[in-house]
Amino acid sequence: MPMGKVYLVGAGPGDPKLITLRGLEALQRADAVVYDRLAGPQLLSRIPDHVERIYVGKRPDRHTMKQEEINQLLVDLALQGKTVCRLKGGDPTVFGRVGEEAGLLKQNGISYEIVPGITSAIAVPAYAGIPVTHRELASSFSVVTGHESPDKLDRTIHWDKVTNATGTLLFLMGVAKIGYISEQLIKHGRSPKTPVALVRWGTRAEQATLVGTLEDIEQKVREADFQPPAVIVVGDVVKQREELQWIEKKPLFGRRILVTRSRSQASELADRIDELGGEPYEFPVIETRLPEGPEAVAAIESALQEADSYDWVVLTSVNGVEFFFRWLETTGTDIRRFHRAEFAAVGPKTAEALKKRGISATALPEKFLAEGLLESLAQRVQAGQKALLPRGDLARDVLPRELNALGLETVSLDVYETVPAGRHDEFLLELLQDGGIHAVTFTSSSTVTNLMEALRRMGAESPAELLAGAAVACIGPITAKTAEEHGLRVTAVAEESTIEGLIQSLIEATNERR
Ligand code: SAH
Repeated sequence: MPMGKVYLVGAGPGDPKLITLRGLEALQRADAVVYDRLAGPQLLSRIPDHVERIYVGKRPDRHTMKQEEINQLLVDLALQGKTVCRLKGGDPTVFGRVGEEAGLLKQNGISYEIVPGITSAIAVPAYAGIPVTHRELASSFSVVTGHESPDKLDRTIHWDKVTNATGTLLFLMGVAKIGYISEQLIKHGRSPKTPVALVRWGTRAEQATLVGTLEDIEQKVREADFQPPAVIVVGDVVKQREELQWIEKKPLFGRRILVTRSRSQASELADRIDELGGEPYEFPVIETRLPEGPEAVAAIESALQEADSYDWVVLTSVNGVEFFFRWLETTGTDIRRFHRAEFAAVGPKTAEALKKRGISATALPEKFLAEGLLESLAQRVQAGQKALLPRGDLARDVLPRELNALGLETVSLDVYETVPAGRHDEFLLELLQDGGIHAVTFTSSSTVTNLMEALRRMGAESPAELLAGAAVACIGPITAKTAEEHGLRVTAVAEESTIEGLIQSLIEATNERR
């Protein structure tokens, strides 16, 4: 068997977008991914389903894997011929024990690559508005470990030299030793008034910052019960934070928000959450695909054969548009065969999707499928006309009913079907249990139903209880009703049933909770 290869990859400090292109490539090509607690869970969702995931971090119910065991694991996986991605928080060479891992690989003749990452030492202060250097305040910085016991610390750290060697000092793994560290720095000549900041879980939803001075920081840490992991910044650059903090000012900062729509649709919502400073957690519970049953396919084929008989083609969603065109392609139907038909689009996004295909459609208001629609249709259609309605298999039957009532002949076509998705996700369960998901978004009734089912499949006895700590935001009243039927307490309903409307309601809902 050919030997595998190991990529020792820096995952960055937590924000999944802070991985390098090379790192992401290694992650997506791997047969096995070995990771621990500092690698952000959202990165793992980018891994294809078939890839083996091996968690080697701390866990309450099992013993923590020793470094030697991890080294050996990497060797074993590579000997099985696998391409391995060893994902490490921050940069793998900064207190990442990459030397030991690469060392054993080398001894075993296994090839490896080191893919640098953005180290928390620099990125975490930056997310708190603290630059590690500054033209007037600090012309150098050093990164120091604080992990060891004080006597060992003293052997590895020459306080007399470290204290004044650089303008800024950055300590990793130092929260528990903050008292000792400040004491040493004062003893060796730093002013007790030197500003200090501790930034916990930087770049993630849990990001929190505590500011003090060398003389009072220990007490502040104790009073606030400030927990690791954190980067400790010592030096005048800390003052910059007052002016430069940025992400903390965004409306969704500190909120981790569950996005349940299908993978292909999730990104728009996730991107908006990200832009607004929140942390989207994508957990698609729906997938859309071409219908597979022979009956469904036959129905589509025969409807498309009669393309020139329609007076209207009414599309109700972006998915509808996409799949309609996919069917034109698979069946070799030329769009010009719909020469008699006028195209109508429900909602601005649907109209936009048609426009991209070169079709200017009659826009129908989205708000809301029932009443508004009938009025606007009545002015446009005539009795006796024939309408094609390409849509998903879950689409509601309001539209055909209304059109029938106006005397039209309608052909409803299921051009795509939605199937439940949602694979086992231990991280998500953990986050839900610990209150780490602050809001849940639902963009359709089926996202509600499917999430509840997925959680039950993952072992949750009462999914509604599990979600009770999170704000629940729904795209519209029908979705909200479904959520309530499942025992959820709906916090916000979008005024306008669009992603932007949902985002607005989310901002209001999360602000109320603060
Ligand atoms: N290789 C990593 C550091 C590993 S040591 C890197 O380059 O970032 C682990 C320490 O890193 C933690 O104890 C903490 O001090 C720091 N750290 C890592 N990620 C962090 C984060 N998101 N927020 C705050 N500190 C972090």
